[in-house]
Amino acid sequence: MTGLNVFQYPAHPHRRRHGPQGYASTAQFREWLRDEFTFRCVYCLEREQWVHRAGHFHAEHFQPVAQRPDLELDYDNLVYACHVCNAIKRDQTVPDPLRVLLAESVKVQPNGTLIALTQEAAKLLEMLHLNSFESRRRRRLMMRVIRLAAVHDLSLLQELLGFPDNLPDLSRLHPPKGNRRPAGVKRSHFARRLRGTLPATC
Ligand SMILES: [Zn+2]
Repeated sequence: MTGLNVFQYPAHPHRRRHGPQGYASTAQFREWLRDEFTFRCVYCLEREQWVHRAGHFHAEHFQPVAQRPDLELDYDNLVYACHVCNAIKRDQTVPDPLRVLLAESVKVQPNGTLIALTQEAAKLLEMLHLNSFESRRRRRLMMRVIRLAAVHDLSLLQELLGFPDNLPDLSRLHPPKGNRRPAGVKRSHFARRLRGTLPATC
């Protein structure tokens, strides 16, 4: 295992699985977003499993509230982002990571550098500082840890690449105005773990 694959972006543009509606605050969408985006930051792919501190991940407004206050509580305008990316993005309007950050448009190098193959991907990497010294170092560090764990410590590897223990049971959540994509609940990570179909690692 090279560890490179943990920083590889998805093969396809993201299609929303959930559609909760009617919550009065952004924070109430959080558990849906955790499941929707597989417990990782949509920008840098940092995982909850790597940062066990409360408050490190946020429900982030893709279109800033300052510019689109009407979308403040619109689930489709929310993504799951780590504290660092959230702080860098702030009120900037950036290319859509769900459409732009794909395996075919961003390549990961063994030294931690990301190579953008489209103009939009390059712009997003630049705006979110995803090739900064710190970002490259973080990727290199995690790849090294994952490689070492794969050889010497399989329980550590499982912890690094597994799902969080506290998967949200979305069937117990009842958004005030319903869920316009109800089929997604049955495909949630919690439901798949109950059925025994959730893979050990992601
Ligand atoms: Zn991030």
